[in-house]
Amino acid sequence: MKVVFATSNEHKLAEVREILSGSGIEVLSLKDVNVSMDEVEETGKTFKENAIIKAKYVAEKTGMLSLADDSGLEVDYINKEPGIYSARYMGEDTSYTIKNNNIIERLKDAKEGERSARFVCAIAAVFPDGRILDTQGTMEGEIAHEIRGENGFGYDPILYLPKLKKTSAELSPEEKNAISHRGKALRSMKEML
Ligand code: IMP
Repeated sequence: MKVVFATSNEHKLAEVREILSGSGIEVLSLKDVNVSMDEVEETGKTFKENAIIKAKYVAEKTGMLSLADDSGLEVDYINKEPGIYSARYMGEDTSYTIKNNNIIERLKDAKEGERSARFVCAIAAVFPDGRILDTQGTMEGEIAHEIRGENGFGYDPILYLPKLKKTSAELSPEEKNAISHRGKALRSMKEML
């Protein structure tokens, strides 16, 4: 089975290919099908709505089964920000060192026990005939007191996983995929497909 994955984020694409490897599902990128997401506005109010908007767009452009994810970081202490605005938080082109330090700073008065946060990932699949499937997965943790780790991307260096005593950026790709929001959502999508 061939699917297009609607992301321009190389890190996400690599995670998706790794998670679906051996499943018989071949994942094509936007480059492979020559589609750009530049015109797509993420106007949804939830991760799920935005994932559906992106997958629908690519399904209509290509006539192929299309998958999209919409994901982000929810920090409870600051009313679940940045949430669906995770990529746009402080501006799309602002470095994650700045974004991550800003979140740590906004939690400077938070007590231990008030630092809970999670990554959320919604995955939508849109078939050429318009049928839609969707799933969601989360990875629970806490906002770290400092940036730690070199792996992954985005907010990985500040999501601390107490059970593992590591941030998400200190996990190997295999360790992260086994427990991540994207891993969980994709594995359940794989079953549904
Ligand atoms: P999207 O491309 O609109 O879904 O935006 C997702 C944004 O959420 C990314 O640009 C990251 O900032 C953040 N994010 C999502 N998943 C992860 C992850 O696995 N690690 C770190 N940050 C993530």
